[in-house]
Amino acid sequence: MASDPQFPKSPQTVTAQGLGWVDPASRAVVPPISMATTFIRDWEPGNQKKRVYSRADSPSFEQAEEMLNALEGGYQTILFGSGMAAATAAFQALDPGDHVVVPKVMYWALRAWLHSFGARWGLQITEVDATDLDAIQAAVRPGETQMIWMETPSNPMWDIVDLAGVAEIARSAGARLAVDSTCATPVFSQPLSLGADLVMHSATKYLNGHSDVLAGTLTCAQEDEFWSRCVTNRAGSGGVAGTMEAWLLARGMRTLFVRVERAAVSALKIARHFEGHEKLTQVLYPGLDSHPGHELAKRQMKGGFGGMLSIRVSSRGDLSAEQAAMETARRVTVWKEATSLGSVESLVEHRGSVEGPTSPCPPDLLRLSTGLESADDLIADLEQALA
Ligand code: PLP
Repeated sequence: MASDPQFPKSPQTVTAQGLGWVDPASRAVVPPISMATTFIRDWEPGNQKKRVYSRADSPSFEQAEEMLNALEGGYQTILFGSGMAAATAAFQALDPGDHVVVPKVMYWALRAWLHSFGARWGLQITEVDATDLDAIQAAVRPGETQMIWMETPSNPMWDIVDLAGVAEIARSAGARLAVDSTCATPVFSQPLSLGADLVMHSATKYLNGHSDVLAGTLTCAQEDEFWSRCVTNRAGSGGVAGTMEAWLLARGMRTLFVRVERAAVSALKIARHFEGHEKLTQVLYPGLDSHPGHELAKRQMKGGFGGMLSIRVSSRGDLSAEQAAMETARRVTVWKEATSLGSVESLVEHRGSVEGPTSPCPPDLLRLSTGLESADDLIADLEQALA
């Protein structure tokens, strides 16, 4: 396969045509699936660094990696077996004893990993309110803090983090800024252009978008010692994506823009419909004027606010607010009660039961991942479940 260096750079064209890759053997517009785990040595001068073994890399990773790299404007993107494999590879590229600043509200499994493995690894972890630049400034230790990890919009409260502001703090402290951009997607946000050094995605979510691939990515702004540790870590730990998954991911990414833009339009419609609803105490969506991060999201996210929102359910009758939320999740039929997000089907989940008592997530919260169904059907379904 070969990508055309003259290929247009508009992100919609990059994704729709998979960077214009054509298989030189067959002229196919869809790449072949290369199942090979090993590759013939090539001793031609200059070629020695070519592929050796698929635990390090595979031709099947290239299309998805290069498409995402073009969308993020990165130096290089590498594909992992899951979002967690990608995120933990970044933390494991640090040394024991290094200080990191992370948000109080973030993807819960990564938070749990940091508290268990990360702490045993010797990382010193400070949690901050990521919406408060003064708190981040106060948390960094110049010369000691190696990484500030942010997530925006953050799961499941959808807080918006001022990435350019945090990048400035990171730079003056000699730290790098890494951003989990899974829910923003490259459709609405390019953290590297705002000063971040590293972007992570759970490609399991919007990038693939069909609930049938587990994968993750890291994209760096520049090559350095930290980045080569991430690359070595992937090959050494074997946290690579499967060949079929990589192929399916590249296929899913071809429709990224239409899926994500449509989900965001529906999410806004649903959020506006339910804001002020008598059975709810709050609708959390950065696209609402009432959201504390709305003005920042308008500046930082281009063209939309994403497909994720949360609702907080009021107590009703004998049911506490938590019970009413759980009951609502059980009563929906168009929305599916399941974990995960970013797929074609809409999902609802009571996050408190998943994240446990140490989570900052309120017990009355339901997380909604808006899919591609009719927004009116989704509204009617939630109305009947709340009634
Ligand atoms: N980051 C966010 C925001 C997520 O929602 C998830 C998964 O839900 C992850 C990271 C982890 O990704 P994966 O499940 O692909 O390991």
